[in-house]
Amino acid sequence: MPDKITAAPDGTLHVPDEPIIPFIRGDGTGVDIWPAAQLVLDAAVAKRGKRIEWLEVLAGQKAFDETGSWLPEETVTSFREHVVGIKGPLTTPVGGGIRSLNVALRQILDLYVCLRPVRWFTGVPSPVKHPEKVDMVIFRENTEDVYAGLELEQGTPEVKRLIEFCTKEFGWDIREDSGIGIKPVSITGSKRLIRAAIEYAVRKGRASVTLVHKGNIQKFTEGAFRGWGYELVREEFADVAVGWDDCGGKPGDKVLVKDTIADIFLQQVLTRPEEFDVIATTNLNGDYASDALAAQVGGIGIAPGANINYVTGHGIFEATHGTAPKYAGLDKVNPGSLLLSGVLMLEHLGWDEAAADVVRALEATIADRIVTYDFARLTEGATEVKTSEFAAAIVERL
Ligand code: NAP
Repeated sequence: MPDKITAAPDGTLHVPDEPIIPFIRGDGTGVDIWPAAQLVLDAAVAKRGKRIEWLEVLAGQKAFDETGSWLPEETVTSFREHVVGIKGPLTTPVGGGIRSLNVALRQILDLYVCLRPVRWFTGVPSPVKHPEKVDMVIFRENTEDVYAGLELEQGTPEVKRLIEFCTKEFGWDIREDSGIGIKPVSITGSKRLIRAAIEYAVRKGRASVTLVHKGNIQKFTEGAFRGWGYELVREEFADVAVGWDDCGGKPGDKVLVKDTIADIFLQQVLTRPEEFDVIATTNLNGDYASDALAAQVGGIGIAPGANINYVTGHGIFEATHGTAPKYAGLDKVNPGSLLLSGVLMLEHLGWDEAAADVVRALEATIADRIVTYDFARLTEGATEVKTSEFAAAIVERL
């Protein structure tokens, strides 16, 4: 019998054998990639004796056309009640109302981790010599930093008042014709993000967690993030993890927590990617790093993502690319991003075997050079297939 997933007070999920999972098909190419991803996920879980009862909920253009609302209340309620959900790409409404549907969903459910695993799949065309050395999992803070939406526009009475206040109270010298954005970074936001990253590293047997920050310049926000990270290791993880300075870089069998400046990090992931494992970082750094790293493994079109609250167990898993409207309905684009987001979802449910099956089958398909147009144009001797054919080829290899 299909049933709801529930979460214990500590965020541990209770997952029935036939969980009800809400999904947003997505606008644009959502019509192509959702059925493809669903086909593969259904086949993989069936092989492991499980079944997902999919429940369609609306958001984006389809929701607006059918209900007059870009993000109907029932959709938010459904994600809240069913704990775990998945979504295709959504058209961002232009002008007025909601700034971004994705941001709105993250804020409403307080999904404070943006999870972006980055690894190479055999056969995927990549711009670097050794993409196989990249295997990182980025934990990007999802609720604060310059993304908090605390901005005042140049020339407004509000920004004038703030500039006057800062000049008078703090003696700050700010040009009168400035716009201003505020960057809050809290102990609460930082520690819960870093806690999730360390717990993940311990759970998955990963060797290190690197705190990526710009603390050399932004001392009381980025620098504080770093400091709170090391403090957290000593306070809560002394038995399983150790900070670099507390062990001279020799962690024994514990998870090593280290840190690096964001700009140097972007160099080092190119020159010695094997030194990085789990990454914990603030919102803006995480945004840049996720896409730069995804490009390094050729995975920009298949990079998965998830937004998770590890305390309540809530998670929304999503394609990281947009709606690609020019390809909508052509059965052409790569469903890999949404499918691999589904894999993250299966892992979140504790269905690791089904998740691993999908990854293996996807890899086998790409290794056989059966790929969609985006990889075909970069792969010699490739067989270009449609979205639906790619999904069928993966199912054959499950
Ligand atoms: P986009 O939809 O991501 O498309 C940009 C390019 O990325 C495409 O032209 C295509 O490249 C490639 N691409 C995208 N999806 C692909 C797939 N599944 N397989 C292979 N290649 C893929 O970005 P956009 O055109 O800037 O944005 C379109 C709409 O999506 C906007 O309304 C935007 O706000 C929205 N958006 C939504 C999300 C989200 O919901 N998470 C994220 C970003 C953007 P080629 O042209 O080289 O083939």
